[in-house]
Amino acid sequence: MKALIIEDTLTSATLVCHQLGKMGLETVHARDGESGIELFKSERPDLILLDIIMPGLDGFEVARRIRQLERDGEWTPIIFLTARTGDEDLERGIEVGGDDYLIKPVSEIVLKAKVRAMQRIAQMRYSLLVLTRKLDEANRELMRLSSADGLTGIANRRRFDETLLKEWRRCAREARPLALLLIDVDFFKPFNDNYGHQAGDECLKAVARALSQTLHRPSDLAARYGGEEFAVILPGTDEAGALAVAEALRAAVQQMGITHRYSEVAPVVTISVGLACATPRPGDETGFIGLLKDADAALYRAKSEGRNRVVSACAPCVGQMD
Ligand code: GH3
Ligand code: MG
Ligand code: MG
Ligand code: MG
Repeated sequence: MKALIIEDTLTSATLVCHQLGKMGLETVHARDGESGIELFKSERPDLILLDIIMPGLDGFEVARRIRQLERDGEWTPIIFLTARTGDEDLERGIEVGGDDYLIKPVSEIVLKAKVRAMQRIAQMRYSLLVLTRKLDEANRELMRLSSADGLTGIANRRRFDETLLKEWRRCAREARPLALLLIDVDFFKPFNDNYGHQAGDECLKAVARALSQTLHRPSDLAARYGGEEFAVILPGTDEAGALAVAEALRAAVQQMGITHRYSEVAPVVTISVGLACATPRPGDETGFIGLLKDADAALYRAKSEGRNRVVSACAPCVGQMD
């Protein structure tokens, strides 16, 4: 532990240094405020003993400047050394950032007790900082977990709902289109029934991975919408762009080549995609509900028209007319 003594009176400084030395503290000494501040910067002491009356900067000003120099979360105990017993001095000292005071000539016993007390506070403060940091981390992890799907690790339904509303509003403000894809795995029930639920789960994980890896824009979001259904939000994407993305997603899943002997559409796992796109009008807060409905209807058509395909709902494009 290192103590910085800022004191112009040499006899007082020598005495304090000597007493601190006996307590096992390393000491550095400055004879005026300016050099004290310089030493604070270069030595980063754990404790400061600061005289009040000095030529040049007085102790109050030095304390004020030191507090400003401390980095965020940093705190160095400052004990004022005062010859006077004036209460105003004490009050002002605490106000400018001091923590305690000692009356000169400094009694060794009192000095020892105060240094101990400061060490204890510093230790508690440090523990609190560590704890706060751990709490922050835990909160971040909790946040992540509460918005991630337990099986696949991609966004869950909750996060999807929040994001859709947020992006819908943003696109309304910026007068940009928003595309939505609803995705359903083809013949997934027979997959489960024949290969088992565990294989089914692995398949869903693989599909989720293929979807997220195929999306490139940071604002694109792939989510697990429910059981074997997924949803993708594509902010700022028009119908043509969304069709290209949807087709890339469909191809990516098929290209994984997960064997599915019980599918009537392909020898591997495939998906059907329903697409809807609209440019929300300013102030339109609920239009995304219609968008969801349209995407769902398009998905239904993709299923009935043969599966393993992308179908776009045209109706929402009405929203782009004006
Ligand atoms: P279609 O091509 O018409 O979509 O046929 P399908 O068999 O995929 O359709 P359906 O909606 O009838 O089947 C969905 C099945 O998905 C029901 C259930 O067995 C399975 N499933 C839903 N959620 C999960 C899950 O979390 N894990 C697993 N392993 N299977 C699931
Ligand atoms: Mg002095
Ligand atoms: Mg389904
Ligand atoms: Mg299905």
